[in-house]
Amino acid sequence: MIWNERIETMSRDEMRELQSKNLRSAVNRVYNSIESYRKKMDAIGLEPGDIKSIDDLSKLPFTTKDDLRDAYPYGMICVPMEEVVRVHASSGTTGKQTVVAYTKNDIDLWSEVMARSMTMTGVTKHDIVHVSYGYGLFTGGLGAHYGTECVGAVTVPVSTGNTKRQLQLLHDFGATVLMCTPSYALYLTEMIENAGLMDEMKLRVGVFGAEPWTEEMRHTIEERLHISAHDIYGLSEIIGPGVSCECKMKNGLHVAEDHFVPEIVDPADDSLLGEGESGELIFSCITKEAMPLLRYRTRDISSLNLQKCECGRTSVRMMKPMGRVDDMLIIRGVNIFPSQIESVLLGITEASPFFMLIVDRVNNLDTIEVQVEMKPEFFSDEVRAIERLRTRITKEIESTLGITVTVTLVEPQTIQRFEGKAVRVIDRRGKLY
Ligand SMILES: [Zn+2]
Repeated sequence: MIWNERIETMSRDEMRELQSKNLRSAVNRVYNSIESYRKKMDAIGLEPGDIKSIDDLSKLPFTTKDDLRDAYPYGMICVPMEEVVRVHASSGTTGKQTVVAYTKNDIDLWSEVMARSMTMTGVTKHDIVHVSYGYGLFTGGLGAHYGTECVGAVTVPVSTGNTKRQLQLLHDFGATVLMCTPSYALYLTEMIENAGLMDEMKLRVGVFGAEPWTEEMRHTIEERLHISAHDIYGLSEIIGPGVSCECKMKNGLHVAEDHFVPEIVDPADDSLLGEGESGELIFSCITKEAMPLLRYRTRDISSLNLQKCECGRTSVRMMKPMGRVDDMLIIRGVNIFPSQIESVLLGITEASPFFMLIVDRVNNLDTIEVQVEMKPEFFSDEVRAIERLRTRITKEIESTLGITVTVTLVEPQTIQRFEGKAVRVIDRRGKLY
């Protein structure tokens, strides 16, 4: 089933026309209400009238997270405050929060794109949806909540924390859909297995987001939790979850491109990249009222696919984001993503998918240690067996990454579990300059 057949199966030409019309309007609104953006456009001699169609999008200046921080708390809002009905905020690891705002229409738009997403994954009004995303200033919980209510499913707003209680509610309420981060889904899977409750669970669909996860992780979760696992993407600066989502084909995430226009640029020189090329994902919000950010730099790495999908939708697909520009570690000149290590570990029977990377610099040379947690059933006191396994994992990681690493095997249950976004890297190198 397709939630919004007219929009989601529109021809490319019709979509470009719709985007062009909405972009012109958004550029005018932003230019006339946001001083910092007007200054950026003036600085390159660009006027709103120069943006005639979606083909002119790349002429516009970027918006970054720093712009939002500088505008803290309300400097990027395009409408009078009496029209704002909600704010969310995301905590940065350093400095100020970034604040995002919504009008009533923006909240309706959010429910609409979330309803499209839920429908893509096969969720209907007959489902019972257990939402373990955080409720509060984080957009995950409330975003999921409005979307599942919009499709008419029973929504269970559990939020994060207290895994024991989560387990009981999943079981007792007969949840058929689970929404949380993929790392928490894996943790819940482990807990359900340990409690011997797997056979009594009614779960059939998982909608997981808020952090990048691999295909191997998907297979692991699907096999062990007996569900169909879908990736959902979003960020508060654009709207929250629902910017894009995977349909049943699981070959890219359909973007709600009538509202959020994606582009891919090379993070090194900001040049626009073509279909299929990997780079930094950029979004322009062309219909939002309170905060229509233009050319927002997500820092996520992805690529775009414009071909019609087998599910019948024509909307552009973004490939599953495999990391962030900021997560990218440069080790001895080689680009490394923590997700590559996760992929290797998920292919090794004796290893758990839980790991920690410790990056350091010794005598001016970058070093990388991978701490890998063993599965309890393969944990052994025999030194030679452990050493053989360690050598095997080291070789596999080295051949994937193309650099030498030190692997340390650690006992089961010793790597920290996370209820939200997992922290998998400790970088002790400090700043280079
Ligand atoms: Zn599709």
